[in-house]
Amino acid sequence: METFAWQKPVAAHSKVYFLDHSFAEIEAVLLRHGFKSSSAQIVYSAVVRHGLQDYADLKGRISKSLILWLTERSGWALNPIASHAAFPSDDGSTKYRVVFTQGGEVECVAMPFEQRLTFCLSSQVGCAMGCTFCATGSMGFGRNLSPAEIAAQVLLMRPLHPSPRGQTIRTNIVFMGMGEPLHNLTNVLSACGHFNHPLGLVIHERDLAISTSGLVPKIRELASSRLRPQLMVSIAATQDADRSAVMPVNRAYPLEELLTTLESFPLRPKERIMLSYVLIRGVNDSDDDADRLVAMAKRIACLVNLIPMNEHQAAPDMLEPRESRIQAFATRLIQAGVFATIRRSRGRDVAAACGQLVRKGRKNADTFC
Ligand code: SAH
Ligand code: SF4
Repeated sequence: METFAWQKPVAAHSKVYFLDHSFAEIEAVLLRHGFKSSSAQIVYSAVVRHGLQDYADLKGRISKSLILWLTERSGWALNPIASHAAFPSDDGSTKYRVVFTQGGEVECVAMPFEQRLTFCLSSQVGCAMGCTFCATGSMGFGRNLSPAEIAAQVLLMRPLHPSPRGQTIRTNIVFMGMGEPLHNLTNVLSACGHFNHPLGLVIHERDLAISTSGLVPKIRELASSRLRPQLMVSIAATQDADRSAVMPVNRAYPLEELLTTLESFPLRPKERIMLSYVLIRGVNDSDDDADRLVAMAKRIACLVNLIPMNEHQAAPDMLEPRESRIQAFATRLIQAGVFATIRRSRGRDVAAACGQLVRKGRKNADTFC
């Protein structure tokens, strides 16, 4: 039987960070060592909300003995990021390249909109899924990020994108950066716990979204998760042979199995699953493709996001369709009664758009596509 890279076990990294633990775990450890629950709340909030970099900065707010214990005994380091670089785009979004102390680099993107701020996060160094249209896929798999490394991307970007004075801007977090988040579900959900926690960033689970290439057993696992972000599923083709050619995951979990799973995915009132469909010239942009996509979309409560192919060097033959074809494809969906939008990726000029996030791969000589 065929074995895919993402089916092999993944080694965890060795160093432990504060945010690798949930609040409940941290509180339990502190209580066991004779410290108060209120102190655990102060420390947790300072780390998640204010990006605490040094336990000593809590002087006067928690006891000296707790500062000493956290600094010398806990073994919980605070910041897993060794360095970062910012790449601002003309459209207002900024891509960040992040280097971790434990090794590995990823990219994440901050996208300010009028009434909200979206952070697009990576969940893995590289990706094992090997989708042929995706620059990250061409890197191969590096490793899973820990909960602290995932949360740190938000803690890095948040203070650099403050809300305008007097306004509270809604924050969304989407896992559409590097990696297959459902291949690292436990750590992704742990990080979401920090984003959602009342002492953390208080981001509602509806404002968290996980995008997957279609790992069916993990979609089922997500369905029963206590904290359940929105689900986005990347489709990219409407027939098994075509989908298997561009998304190898389809060989293990073909379309019918994926659609049946989505049909039974429990949704909250008014919630819909997002189907992402990357539109590639001459590959999946015909009227027949549109009609088959309509048939699929009608089976589930969904919105379809059409993402015109972001071109890059790792897939030189895959091109964005002409504008008239993109419009015709979208119109065919809408006229058939499907909710469909064309998503213009942000940050194209700094290679921050969907599928363009890539760092030096095992085989790539280039740093960016
Ligand atoms: N691994 C997850 C999330 C990261 S990819 C997933 O595949 O869903 C985020 C989105 O970018 C996916 O919807 C994917 O289909 C899309 N994408 C990948 N490469 C692209 C490209 N070159 N142009 C446009 N969209 C792309
Ligand atoms: Fe991985 Fe998503 Fe890219 Fe596929 S599209 S290779 S799953 S990041």
